[in-house]
Amino acid sequence: MENVTDKAALRRQMIAARRALAPDVKLQADARIAQRLWQWLADHQVKVLGGYLPIAGEPDLSPLYAGLAERGIVLALPIVMERHQPLRYLRWQPGDPLARDASGTMAPSASSDFLQPDAVLAPCIGFTGTGLRLGFGGGYFDRTLAQSPRPMAVGIAYAFSRVEFPAEAHDIPLDLVITD
Ligand code: ADP
Ligand code: MG
Repeated sequence: MENVTDKAALRRQMIAARRALAPDVKLQADARIAQRLWQWLADHQVKVLGGYLPIAGEPDLSPLYAGLAERGIVLALPIVMERHQPLRYLRWQPGDPLARDASGTMAPSASSDFLQPDAVLAPCIGFTGTGLRLGFGGGYFDRTLAQSPRPMAVGIAYAFSRVEFPAEAHDIPLDLVITD
């Protein structure tokens, strides 16, 4: 339980820190992350990318999404079909409709196609030097990455949110973390 308490305190601290970012500083940081992700995508074979729409002050990479198709990349967004289950990914492009999923987050409408992403972007409240992700505490990415086959997991985080916490048995490391 000590770990859990630590994680909860870290979550509060890191969410407060990113909410305190000045809008222009955040815009610049998000643009740097987007630029690095763009470069990473140029160097990797990703046909289907699982993205996300930002909540709670997460880096906003959505300006990048419209351009992905030009590079031949299909975009998908996560949906919580059922709580305590892995995420699923539905095809989506900017302009397509969204609806609240079982967790209350906006997701593509259920009439979209399910896709198996080659890589997914995992927004991090915090991340460790060994690539552990601090999420909202739902364990959704851990459950998604526990499946086989699993997509590459690209953490997306602000550099200031590097933290340390001990890995729990279910925590699955990200393959890399892209920061500003
Ligand atoms: P987060 O990764 O979102 O920060 P945690 O790592 O604290 O959250 O995980 C939250 C909960 O999710 C854990 O207490 C655990 O019960 C559950 N969980 C994570 N991965 C799995 C899994 N593969 N199977 C079942 N439950 C899991
Ligand atoms: Mg976890």
